[in-house]
Amino acid sequence: MTKTYFIKTYGCQANLADSANIAGIFENLGFTPLDLSKKEFKNAKAEDEYVFSSANLVIINSCSVRQKSEDKVYGLGKTLKGMRKKPYIILTGCVVGSACGDRSRYSLDDLKRKVPWVDLFLPTPKTNNLKSVSFGGGHAYVNISTGCDNFCTYCVVPYARGEEISRLKAEILAEFGSYIEQGVTKFTLCGQNVNSWGLAKKQKFKIRAGSNQKLPFANLLRALLKIEGVKEIDFISSNPFDFTSDLVNVLKHPKIKNYIHIAVQSGNNEILKKMNRRHSVEDFIGVVEQIYRVRPRMEIGTDIIVGFPGETREQFMDTVSLVERVHFNVAFISMYSERKGTIAQKTMKDDIPREEKKWRHDFLTKAWKKTAAER
Ligand code: SF4
Repeated sequence: MTKTYFIKTYGCQANLADSANIAGIFENLGFTPLDLSKKEFKNAKAEDEYVFSSANLVIINSCSVRQKSEDKVYGLGKTLKGMRKKPYIILTGCVVGSACGDRSRYSLDDLKRKVPWVDLFLPTPKTNNLKSVSFGGGHAYVNISTGCDNFCTYCVVPYARGEEISRLKAEILAEFGSYIEQGVTKFTLCGQNVNSWGLAKKQKFKIRAGSNQKLPFANLLRALLKIEGVKEIDFISSNPFDFTSDLVNVLKHPKIKNYIHIAVQSGNNEILKKMNRRHSVEDFIGVVEQIYRVRPRMEIGTDIIVGFPGETREQFMDTVSLVERVHFNVAFISMYSERKGTIAQKTMKDDIPREEKKWRHDFLTKAWKKTAAER
């Protein structure tokens, strides 16, 4: 009898790319995916119950960017409670990554106590040289690097995903080839900071926004754009601090998607410094202007945090002004939430009251929607 597996993926595109790698491993081992395409569930809990009672193996690819994301994983225990039999469960992704390695934020024993129903803990595997399975739709996410060395002060990723490591170009090309054979034509390259792909550690922080410095990532893009069968490429995430004009020039290519995501996080330089973002508001605006020069209709998305420790109303209003100036097509606005083990949690006081954070969130969302509509 064939054994079925199901991968429950939380979080970002990097996790989706990892899940495609993990699917490749289990399909090579003879597992078939549990098919939910013809099923309808009244809510997420009903879907979870079906998955846990039907699959032989469930892999949970977790996210720990917010406490809420971690709690979703811990909450699965409630669904499993009272079930007569449960599948073999593997937990992977950032929740496990946060408990392993040199940069761990909590111990594996602590994690085991929270999820006693997990059979195997698997730190995010370096599965990149394995065949990935397309999840359909002619599109695939391809991780080009893992981890992050930037240490923005609010962020858990450098702890959860560890040191930044670039994949070899040959591996990336091979993964593209394998996807093209499966009918994929559109690709999203993923990494916590794709701009620094292929750079040695000591070079990484010498790159400056808007400069003429050459980036190996720009060369990688040029090579991937030449592949026959590739119709569209985009990438996420790009940081402003190392977005050079070399990379801006690649954006002219017609196969580059007409959307780019560059996280700005704040419109105030003091707050950016406290966040350790390594760029100023002026750097960010300079990059956006360069992009509009080569591609005037490019759509731009961003991430913004409101209510960072010590952020005054005036500093917050600088973010509102930036949003009004740039006219982002997409903006993910979140209220600052303290994450255990981060530099901000250890050294700064989470001193903006929740109601004030909520007010700033709603005010900025309104301002953004108005300016996005005007673009
Ligand atoms: S660049 Fe900053 S926000 Fe992005 S993953 Fe790295 S530390 Fe986190």
